[in-house]
Amino acid sequence: MTSTSSSDTGFSLAIHGGAGTIRRSTMTPEREAAYHAGLRRSLEAGRAILADGGGALDAVSAAVMALEDEPLFNAGRGAVYTSAGKQEMDAAIMDGRDRSAGAVAGICGPRNPILAARAVMEHSGHVVLIGESAMEFCRSRGLAFEEESYFFTEQRWKALQETLALRKSGADDQDESRKHGTVGAVARDRHGNLAAATSTGGMTAKMPGRVGDSPVIGAGTWADNETCAISATGHGEIFIRYAAAHEIASRMRYAGQSLEDAARIVVIDVLKPAGGSGGIIAVDYAGNVSLPFNSSGMYRGVVRQDGKLLTGIYKEQLVEFQGA
Ligand code: ASP
Repeated sequence: MTSTSSSDTGFSLAIHGGAGTIRRSTMTPEREAAYHAGLRRSLEAGRAILADGGGALDAVSAAVMALEDEPLFNAGRGAVYTSAGKQEMDAAIMDGRDRSAGAVAGICGPRNPILAARAVMEHSGHVVLIGESAMEFCRSRGLAFEEESYFFTEQRWKALQETLALRKSGADDQDESRKHGTVGAVARDRHGNLAAATSTGGMTAKMPGRVGDSPVIGAGTWADNETCAISATGHGEIFIRYAAAHEIASRMRYAGQSLEDAARIVVIDVLKPAGGSGGIIAVDYAGNVSLPFNSSGMYRGVVRQDGKLLTGIYKEQLVEFQGA
């Protein structure tokens, strides 16, 4: 678990690339470096906006787009496959200023599902659109689309075959990297506004039509200026049943808990015993950041007013990028 705090005049941005980290035993230095680099690109995209006085909503959109464009993570380009060998992506975005929110579920085509969610929030008059109708709406808004081949990754296809084989043999899949993955960002901008964004391919070999927690407002995504902004990753069904993100905000609002305490209690004491492996990233109204997870790792990163890019994968402290 990692936490940092920030003065209330600065900005804070936290990101995650999912709780489905590769087992340490199979992680190579090259792969590890590639994950850190992917996380840094996302932090840089958000930092450029926030350092310039830009809004939290734009920052989380930019940070998530960078992760969706990166095939290493399970969202957009690197999305996992359903049991039928198709990709069905979910995404949500929420603006802490007025709790406006937009989400899409079960789509494959828009290059950046987070932009689809944002378009739903800003232009549809609704909160959630699904499937073919959501895509039709994205086309009408002029969003960029990609062919199926753009979204194909060997790694995810292989994971599907392995998961289906394990399922057939009746074995339990213990590999978190096959099961989990999602990307997300939460931010507090210099004006004190909060926003959250989450995007995912869901869980490998999920049933066609299954929708996880990411696009469910209050489960995998939440933002409210009075409390906090949250993006989750993990076993979506459990996060939905426990209204994970909203539960953290409620503990702050009604029980007076700090972000750090509320986030830790929900992830470690509530979700874990219920079978909800995974974690969350959160930022509160004062810019405090909390990144608890109950899995063996969570790809994650933080950047604050000082501009330092901090990233991490396993339980250790975040490391600062020392490069150019
Ligand atoms: N929460 C995502 C879902 O259930 C998957 C994950 O983050 O591992 O769709």
